Amino acid sequence: MDTQLKLLGKDAPPSEPIRHLKASVDPSTLHHRQLLDGTFWQRIPAYRQIDEATFLDHTWQAKNTITNPQKLLAAVQDLVPQSFYDDVEQGFRHSPMSIRVSPYLLSLIDWQHAYTDPLRRQFVPVASRLLPDHPKLTLDSLHEQADAPVPGLTHRYPDKALFLALDTCPVYCRFCTRSYAVGVDTDEVEKVSLKATEDRWERAFTYIRERPELEDIVVSGGDSYQLKARQITLIGNRLLELPNIRRIRFATKGPAVMPMKLITDHEWLDALTSVVDRGRKLHKEVVLHTHFNHPNEITAITKRALDGVFERGIITRNQCVLQRGVNDSIATMQLLVKRLGHCQVHPYYVYVHDLVKGVEDLRTTLQTALDIEKAVRGTTAGFHTPTFVVDAPGGGGKRVAHSFEHYDRTTGISVFAAPSVKPGYFLYFDPVDTLAPEIQAKWKVPAERDQMVEEAIAAAKAAQQASAKASSVR
Ligand SMILES: *Cc1c(COP(=O)(O)O)cnc(C)c1O
Ligand code: SF4
Repeated sequence: MDTQLKLLGKDAPPSEPIRHLKASVDPSTLHHRQLLDGTFWQRIPAYRQIDEATFLDHTWQAKNTITNPQKLLAAVQDLVPQSFYDDVEQGFRHSPMSIRVSPYLLSLIDWQHAYTDPLRRQFVPVASRLLPDHPKLTLDSLHEQADAPVPGLTHRYPDKALFLALDTCPVYCRFCTRSYAVGVDTDEVEKVSLKATEDRWERAFTYIRERPELEDIVVSGGDSYQLKARQITLIGNRLLELPNIRRIRFATKGPAVMPMKLITDHEWLDALTSVVDRGRKLHKEVVLHTHFNHPNEITAITKRALDGVFERGIITRNQCVLQRGVNDSIATMQLLVKRLGHCQVHPYYVYVHDLVKGVEDLRTTLQTALDIEKAVRGTTAGFHTPTFVVDAPGGGGKRVAHSFEHYDRTTGISVFAAPSVKPGYFLYFDPVDTLAPEIQAKWKVPAERDQMVEEAIAAAKAAQQASAKASSVR
């Protein structure tokens, strides 16, 4: 046979071995398919006797949720030294967020390495690792309240709105963007109240009905997991019945922090499924948006839970927050993206960490986002490739991380424009501790700060004018 043809594998008899063009992959390196299974929670002293049926019971999870340092000590006991508990105690005192950690999450933390564990970092504050806030930080940095015509309804973009149905979650995340409202008051912050009251909801529905341009509602909070089954049905139906509404997303961190609810709270999942099914008949899309940040959050329990969601024909997308020491490495983000894909969850966004009070230790630079996005793109399906975005402080909304008008890596200032959302410039600031010592010194002086910001905006204007001249887009 012609050797050339043989090389191409053409005309070879079926019995002949396939000539592989790429080195073969050792299946044991496909870590995204290797999910933690078994009774892993029994590593925690307080859960040594807890059997699977109990651990999978969502009411047991809710009842045994850790809400203060004393409860943490009672659960984790001697896995960490007393000095760690003292550090946590101090951490709470300075935290703008309440604490709430499910037994499931607690069991996934490697307490031997409590300081570096990526899940501990997200949910349990320790005073010794805190950094001072950025001088440009404000509590509602996204201007969600300023853009709210009705309390708890933020209408920023032309055709979509964010409906904060309630202000509680199954866990509280240190990095929460809505620490202005979510959770109970802390020593640091007195919260805006967004209770799950039907009167407030009715005003939101009325507003939505009166805005023909609105087509897309994000139901969030707080967290849709905390809504009762009948509340899911009520909100879902009221929105589906509005002729202008074409898309609804129920946002919940639940699958990442308490996946067993999807296995054992039949009433809740049935309610969501009915809204999705009714929406489908009305040619309206109803989907689930969730929030996984680290591959360790995805276990065999998660897979089982999400398999059930998928079998019901419910589409799930993920929004992730990029955090220092949590998921700011290429390998971690690639693994997260592949593991989500394995569970049929579409990685939708990776947010560059918002400017949030009390969590400067979790923020990364914009450059980190750019580097990770470059390495993630190309590893899997395009529709499983998240878009890296900056939710521009000041109400500019989400901007693709790459789309800055100007980015000064020395001062850590990036400048964005959002022509279809709001006029003006929107600035993002890299954490000060990542900058050179002489620049850190400048950030301490108000006049120097103002000058750095002015220079960045001037550079952005100049860059925009230059590209407008070169462009033919009008
Ligand atoms: C994120 C967000 C939305 C939804 O935006 P998408 O880019 O479509 O996911 C809507 N309203 C507000 C205020 C938001 O912050
Ligand atoms: S689940 Fe979402 S809304 Fe609730 S605390 Fe975490 S980030 Fe905030």
